Amino acid sequence: MRTDATNVKMPSVEEIKKSVISKLRYSLCLEVDSATNADIFNALALTIRDYQLDGFFSTRKLQEKAKSKRLYYLSMEFLLGQSLRNNLMNIGLLQQAEHAVAELGFDFEHITAEEPDAALGNGGLGRLAACFIDSMATLDIAASGHGIKYEYGLFKQSIQHNQQVEQPDDWHSTHSPWLIEHHSQLMLIPLGGHIEESYDIEGNYNPMWMDWKVIVGIPHDYLVTGYGGKTVNTLRLYSAGASDSFDVHIFNRGDYLRAVGQKIASENISKILYPADEIQSGKELRLTQEYFLVACTLRDIFHDYAQHSSDITALPEAVAIQLNDTHPALAIVEMMRILVDEHRLDWSAAWEITQKTCAFTNHTLMPEALETWSVALFEKLLPRHLQIIYEINHRLLGEVAEKWPDKPHLLASLSLFEEGAEKKIRMANLAIVGSHKINGVAKLHSELITQTLVPDFYFITPEKFTNQTNGVTPRRWIQQANPGLAMFLTRHLGNGWVTDLDRLQQLKKLANEKGVVEEVQALKLKNKQALCRQIAFQQGVQLDPLAMFDCQVKRIHEYKRQLLNILHVIHLYLEIIESGHTPTPKVHLFAGKAAPGYAMAKLIIQLINEVAKTINGDPRVKGQLSVLFLEDYKVSLAEHIIPATDLSEQISTAGTEASGTSNMKFAMNGALTIGTLDGANIEIRDAVGKENFYLFGANADEITTHRQVGSHNRIDHNRDPIVSAVLEALISGRFNANTAVFQPIYHMLTNADHYCHLLDFDSYRLAQHQAQTDFLQQRQWHQRALLNIANMGSFSSDRTIRGYAKEIWGIGF
Ligand SMILES: *Cc1c(COP(=O)(O)O)cnc(C)c1O
Repeated sequence: MRTDATNVKMPSVEEIKKSVISKLRYSLCLEVDSATNADIFNALALTIRDYQLDGFFSTRKLQEKAKSKRLYYLSMEFLLGQSLRNNLMNIGLLQQAEHAVAELGFDFEHITAEEPDAALGNGGLGRLAACFIDSMATLDIAASGHGIKYEYGLFKQSIQHNQQVEQPDDWHSTHSPWLIEHHSQLMLIPLGGHIEESYDIEGNYNPMWMDWKVIVGIPHDYLVTGYGGKTVNTLRLYSAGASDSFDVHIFNRGDYLRAVGQKIASENISKILYPADEIQSGKELRLTQEYFLVACTLRDIFHDYAQHSSDITALPEAVAIQLNDTHPALAIVEMMRILVDEHRLDWSAAWEITQKTCAFTNHTLMPEALETWSVALFEKLLPRHLQIIYEINHRLLGEVAEKWPDKPHLLASLSLFEEGAEKKIRMANLAIVGSHKINGVAKLHSELITQTLVPDFYFITPEKFTNQTNGVTPRRWIQQANPGLAMFLTRHLGNGWVTDLDRLQQLKKLANEKGVVEEVQALKLKNKQALCRQIAFQQGVQLDPLAMFDCQVKRIHEYKRQLLNILHVIHLYLEIIESGHTPTPKVHLFAGKAAPGYAMAKLIIQLINEVAKTINGDPRVKGQLSVLFLEDYKVSLAEHIIPATDLSEQISTAGTEASGTSNMKFAMNGALTIGTLDGANIEIRDAVGKENFYLFGANADEITTHRQVGSHNRIDHNRDPIVSAVLEALISGRFNANTAVFQPIYHMLTNADHYCHLLDFDSYRLAQHQAQTDFLQQRQWHQRALLNIANMGSFSSDRTIRGYAKEIWGIGF
């Protein structure tokens, strides 16, 4: 099939073997006899990359011939995880590679385990970008991702004395076999300096941006092979270096140390990923990173475009830019600068091109996550961009004042500037005015954007706002993570489901067929056994694979409410001690990282670990209740946990989780969900049927009302004996001899429970109890798991990308 499409011949096992030996010898200077697993990994990856490159060149020819519209996806994060198995599966070479490795005398599992996760992202937002580039290539869209090649990705987490400890993540960025450096394409990016007012010969205002220093951007391409191997796109990651030319200046004055120091400062730009998720940092280096990404990408966009056309006004017909959150929103300003200052377009022509080209995805409703930047910082780093933002704002407010003279209040809320002790730039406002479409990531979220986040923007331009519910790629999250389920699906449905996930619907008529539910049950048990082996190996803990596996794995954040989960676990523990039994033995798994500066999140990690230690060490609950915090949550760990889960915890306070994507991964792998009416949970519940979903808790409106009347601060927990027993246990010294340690949590819950843990506790407990009881009916449980799988087809990121292409990018099929 691939031979027809691209004229690339599929290699045999023998050819792969030969190539691996040759890569070892001529690229890595090694011989097979002395090669380690890591060496074989590198040689195999280089071998696979050659086939990807063949596909890349033929893809480029096809796309050029078809004059395809090009999509540029800008994101500060791409949470890729491992690539070897994914690339082999998408190209269609997995089996050949497995055999080749075996014939060389190595174990394929050990080889794949050698690959470090590329953790160039914090969580959901970065993983979404990774799923999207897979879907875009699979759907044969001419697209590229653009991001930063961080030298250090998200920190590695270990647990010491029950607390999170962070270590640098050296993912070997400098010698990753997947990255192809294009040193010849390096670009010069100006930063800093000042504006000199001047006028051109016709008397037009023509400011000069002077005395900037230069950062060098070096592109590195990571090849993205779509399923079937036909289309090979790129993810382009830029690293920062210092330019020799600007060093020379200082160097000539003999100030060698300062010259070197400046070089180090420039290289710092791509040194490290900011580790805070859903929280804005406000740091100079972060703003520089955002600008660096945008400036490099726009140079590539204009360079690519110039290969095909010299008519700059037609750019929006050939190019679409998608901004993943506000982090790359400066693309709007940089584009204006290039069009006005370099292409000499008049302002309104430039603005029309920019708006038609750019679109923006909002990812959050939480005020602490909305980006603002100090005007003073902009003045220092990006003086010309600041001028442009002032001009955009001036024109926007002018138009609004003229059109709605009776609504002066609009001016304050629409302004790109936030007045206050320190004047700030609102990046969301900038992203909205500069884009032709703004989308949220789940139906509820998109609705809340228009109603509560930016109602005034919705008032002036309702046609811009749309929804594209997130999705995840079934290539990684079913085919790779759950090969047993993949084989089951292919056996019953043929292999078309991999690119057409709606075909899972056909499973419904099998749900009553003899033996099919038993197959699903057996698959789940096998995945649980595999996870148990891994946990036994890594943490020395034996778990019972027949127990109910209840998992919450995601970033640790108050709004995600890991605290609600662990409070309920404490309740279960107290109950078993008192009554001596439980209806169903349970295993509670937690995993996730907390931002290093987020004290409450880190304290919650400590609580989970101390509760786990107490419970696992108590003979009274042995065999009935176990709790485990798995260290260093990342994509490759998610791939092991998710297929082994019975109950998926999606319990954020309603109105806080924009969409969630792990909720989708779990349900399509046959977990039932216990969840609130939040984000995409609502759409998942609609899809799988309310009888196959454990709903609990207040909805978004009720949360708002509850907070407005201030009752989250006034719950009388003493009236609920269950809650008061749990709260008492928290500070009793039962989990930590120092009773002061968890006092801040107790204080928060009883004084300012902003995320409404106690409000939802009782309803959560009842839903949990129902799930635990239902789990006893194993056949019914797995039948419902099967119905979850069958109904999850629309949560493929292929569906999401088709929606973006049609409604936002103007890219047809
Ligand atoms: C899917 C995924 C996430 C997002 O999880 P949510 O529960 O949607 O927040 C975060 N981290 C990793 C490693 C993932 O695979």
